[in-house]
Amino acid sequence: MPELPEVETTRRGIAPHLEGQRVSRVVVRDRRLRWPIPEDLDVRLSGQRIVTVERRAKYLLINAEVGTLISHLGMSGSLRLVQQGLPAAKHEHVDIELESGLMLRYTDPRRFGAMLWSLDPLKHELLLRLGPEPLTELFDGERLFQLSRGRAMAVKPFIMDNAVVVGVGNIYATEALFAAGIDPRRAAGGISRARYLKLAIEIKRVLAAAIEQGGTTLRDFMGGDGQPGYFQQELFVYGRAGQPCKVCGSELRSVTLGQRASVFCPRCQR
Ligand SMILES: [Zn+2]
Repeated sequence: MPELPEVETTRRGIAPHLEGQRVSRVVVRDRRLRWPIPEDLDVRLSGQRIVTVERRAKYLLINAEVGTLISHLGMSGSLRLVQQGLPAAKHEHVDIELESGLMLRYTDPRRFGAMLWSLDPLKHELLLRLGPEPLTELFDGERLFQLSRGRAMAVKPFIMDNAVVVGVGNIYATEALFAAGIDPRRAAGGISRARYLKLAIEIKRVLAAAIEQGGTTLRDFMGGDGQPGYFQQELFVYGRAGQPCKVCGSELRSVTLGQRASVFCPRCQR
């Protein structure tokens, strides 16, 4: 599943090819994504210039002169730029043709993604109640501490709650909790301010490192048929249940929290 760093890398990859370009046509081959692609998307977008490409949580906001295309990559979606006229393969559902001769092609085998149109995207129901971006000053350990008081839920699903902070997916929550030495099963309300300050720093660090590594994959958004996958960040615990901890050698354990597998080190994380 594309996580926040992959979405941000997508934004950085496509933005220079979209910003300032006029859309000549939108071709939709299959409207059945998580929600149907609006019937009038071609009419709304064609003829308009794309002004900016922004990101909010895992939503890409392709801002036209009037209105915004809100796109989400779902479980298996990707966006890349190809030459117009390139035949569409299976699962390549949408082409947004530009006056430059390129087109933005949306591919999504599992069709859990989204392409929606909004005149006021930040007030769209999908975006309205989102918490702060993790890499901004609006997110810090003090926020985690304050919002967690009285909460009995485990700390891992707490930091993955989009109302608390957006974009902390399973891989990054797992790694940040390990780096901060916090047991993912611990009740959110029982963790000290000092430990939350450390945890917030680690969340920012793992996400920033992944985005930085994504920069090396930017060429994949132009021409080639490879899709950006997970970045080759060194993982200490995610996906390593049963293997030895890279720090202390203890066997890593897995527990299910909030319906997600959570790997942790029973000695390093308390
Ligand atoms: Zn350990």
